[in-house]
Amino acid sequence: MRKFVSTRNKENVVFSKEAIIQGLAKDGGLYTPVKLDDIKIDLDKCSDLNYQELATYILSEIFDDFTEKEIKTCVIKAYTDSFATDDVVLVSEIGEDFLLELYHGPTSAFKDVALTILPHLLSTAYKTHAENKKIYILTATSGDTGKAALEAFKNVKNIYITVFYPKDGVSKIQERQMNTTKGNNVDVVSVRGNFDACQRLVKTIYEDRQINEIYNNVQLSSANSINIGRLIPQVVYYFKAYLVLVKNKVIKLNEKVNFIVPTGNFGDILAGYFAKLIGCPINKLVCAANKNNVLVDFINTGIYDINRKFYTTMSPSMDILISSNLERLLFILSDFDDEKIKQYMSDLKIKGRYEIDKEMLSKLQESFVGIYVSEKKCSQAIHRAFHRDKRLIDPHTAIAYHASSKYKDKHQNIILATASPFKFPISVSDSITKADIKEEIEAMEKLAQISREEIPLNLKDINKLEILHNKTIEIAEGRDYVIERMEKLNV
Ligand SMILES: *Cc1c(COP(=O)(O)O)cnc(C)c1O
Repeated sequence: MRKFVSTRNKENVVFSKEAIIQGLAKDGGLYTPVKLDDIKIDLDKCSDLNYQELATYILSEIFDDFTEKEIKTCVIKAYTDSFATDDVVLVSEIGEDFLLELYHGPTSAFKDVALTILPHLLSTAYKTHAENKKIYILTATSGDTGKAALEAFKNVKNIYITVFYPKDGVSKIQERQMNTTKGNNVDVVSVRGNFDACQRLVKTIYEDRQINEIYNNVQLSSANSINIGRLIPQVVYYFKAYLVLVKNKVIKLNEKVNFIVPTGNFGDILAGYFAKLIGCPINKLVCAANKNNVLVDFINTGIYDINRKFYTTMSPSMDILISSNLERLLFILSDFDDEKIKQYMSDLKIKGRYEIDKEMLSKLQESFVGIYVSEKKCSQAIHRAFHRDKRLIDPHTAIAYHASSKYKDKHQNIILATASPFKFPISVSDSITKADIKEEIEAMEKLAQISREEIPLNLKDINKLEILHNKTIEIAEGRDYVIERMEKLNV
């Protein structure tokens, strides 16, 4: 069976069910599949598969300690009637490029694609591995994961969840989406700090031996893309987009394409890299970043340096300096050299900086290109998409759309559209019209009117929902907060 090993200790080996239950490895590393090169997705065989069939095929290859029947059941539960389109994702034209629309799920962001299936994978794994423990999911969010995870896990048996979000680091709508979530097992708190601080808090708690020993009835897990169960389902839509373009005769079978990915925690783009490793004909993965451009500098120089100013931007879900999933890529590029990765991560923790060697850098640059987009260019991109290409796009997608215009080679560019424009209505309407609207619902209505698109149902009535969560804590209070909740779960 396929082995998943921790990036910080190669001896720490588990199969996928256990990796999904644990979320983060106890040594602080991330479970990563080794040797994917034995998988070769047969594109010919896939051409007539619908999304569910394709997902069953690909996920069964990677999560091979699940039976195919188990995977199929998870896929069907996740992807039946939860998305506005039967095929989960849509591929559409934008100028000379294509948009892979990933935002038609229950919370209008691409996180839904993986988070609608994660609870089912976790519950299935729980039956074999969790030995009557309760599962407690800690999640840090830059805005979109939070709501998608809350919706996905609410009222799921034996699973409890707390979401931490940066107090002033998410959009009003994102905050309201989270704070109005119902369900007897969900909990949301804002933290005074940015996303990186929230993520660090969560990681510190996983590694806290005391907590793990005292509360051994509770299994901590994660709904962030540090959980491999969150990452692998994202591989599927890269294949789907590719197959749609083949079917529509935009490209020939096996002809390569580029994917342009708006990037924050490096999860989405890493899923693209996994797709490439198992046979999706990808030339370049373009890492499109906002003003927090630490990844772009890294791809260009091999130096990862977080000693820089942190900005809040109009694409808040990408306001991240420490991109967790990069650790997995480095592990793969270094030929699974756990000692090396440990050194890099320790340098990052102590000095805020590390530098990879030349060999790894050139391997990195074979597959990745980094392009950074300023706030002004992002806003202009939204304007241009609307007025020139007749498309309404959100600020995250706009970062990739602009990056796509800067990166052209002979291959077709496919842009990942990660959120509905209605989720960030003020930034979008400010960029398109001179109306200067201050209120979200009014901005949504304006956008609906000028685009003739419909406001997604989950956003339309958001102001009418009751606020059920409104706690704010300091980062330093985070540990006690978690312990308090675990005390309650442990009974
Ligand atoms: C999370 C998110 C991103 C960044 O994805 P990563 O996997 O963290 O790199 C981009 N756009 C939107 C809308 C998001 O919610």
